[in-house]
Amino acid sequence: MKNKFIDQAVTGIQGLSPYQPGKPIETLERELGIQNSLKLASNENPLGASPSVLKALQGDLEPAFYPDGNGFILKQALAKKLGVASAQITLGNGSNDILDMIARVFLCQGRAAIFSQYAFAVYPIATQAVGATSQIAPALPVNHPKRAYGHDLEAMLSLITDSTRVIFIANPNNPTGTWLDQTALRAFMDQVPQRIITVIDEAYFEYVDEADYPDTLQWLDHYPNLIVTRTFSKIYGLASLRIGYAICHEDIADLLNRVRQPFNVNTPALIAATAALDDEQHIKQCADLNRQGLDFWKHHCRQRQLNFIPSVGNFISIDMAQEASPVYHALLRQGVIVRPIANYGLHQHLRITIGTPEQNQRCLTALDYVLAASETGL
Ligand SMILES: *Cc1c(COP(=O)(O)O)cnc(C)c1O
Repeated sequence: MKNKFIDQAVTGIQGLSPYQPGKPIETLERELGIQNSLKLASNENPLGASPSVLKALQGDLEPAFYPDGNGFILKQALAKKLGVASAQITLGNGSNDILDMIARVFLCQGRAAIFSQYAFAVYPIATQAVGATSQIAPALPVNHPKRAYGHDLEAMLSLITDSTRVIFIANPNNPTGTWLDQTALRAFMDQVPQRIITVIDEAYFEYVDEADYPDTLQWLDHYPNLIVTRTFSKIYGLASLRIGYAICHEDIADLLNRVRQPFNVNTPALIAATAALDDEQHIKQCADLNRQGLDFWKHHCRQRQLNFIPSVGNFISIDMAQEASPVYHALLRQGVIVRPIANYGLHQHLRITIGTPEQNQRCLTALDYVLAASETGL
């Protein structure tokens, strides 16, 4: 049914579709009347937050007081850890919030943002919400030897026009898990005019273990138009608290802070993030477990001759060799929630978050059952 107020909404909003999150466990269990279901749909950390985070959150939290709107302590801790100045850091209510701030500061009607086909779904939403145009570069072809489905940097460069003001790059990208090496990305940065704000979204930074993965923070002095975004939602296991950050030139940080909601990051999030930063042991453990899990999925996909997009994130998108939606629904009936990505134009793929070894096995067993059943037409 047509929305009664659609004509009153600003133009950019009229054509928007809301972000589709992974199905919550509670929803599935309510709908099917089942228990003990497994969610591997939102790239959440299967080991959860560090025990030191849980401990820090047990302190006196007085809900009556506003949080520190400047996040002084966390920004100092981040600055020290990352080797940047506090003034270069902007905190967000998740890194999504940062992406929105960037759009509000640099985009509007008549301006445009470039991103890749299959790039993270928040880029088109942030762009369109402020009335700007999305310039979408076709991804590298499916048969590309190294980066099938990945960002095509040449194609992105060739879209640049006078109205281009922002470029969004996810490295690695979600939902593909594809990544860009330092040589390619640096050569790209060299060709982007400095008037164009270039966002490198590193939500999965801590998971990547590739020798040529770029150390973009080292580039900030050289490229004042660079914004690097990271999050506490993924490896740090703080997704529910909503906290992420940007690192960039302090003059860009100053602009982001002009549109930032005064108390966008809450006190528990600030406390948890500060504690989480310290527990490097936990981060290493999570990264190691993820690597094993990725190997598990790659191995079993090969065994079953299922194609997958090579991923360095904490998820893997697997080609079901058929329309993925019925497989997704059949998995739900097995109590396993994964993520359909047809909204990205990937109708045959399901994105599976890497879980613990037990969770991975349970998901694989359910998938085997469902695929066998679909073959025999059950
Ligand atoms: C998960 C994700 C984010 C971060 O989300 P927040 O929870 O808002 O920090 C950002 N970019 C990409 C590519 C992601 O997959």
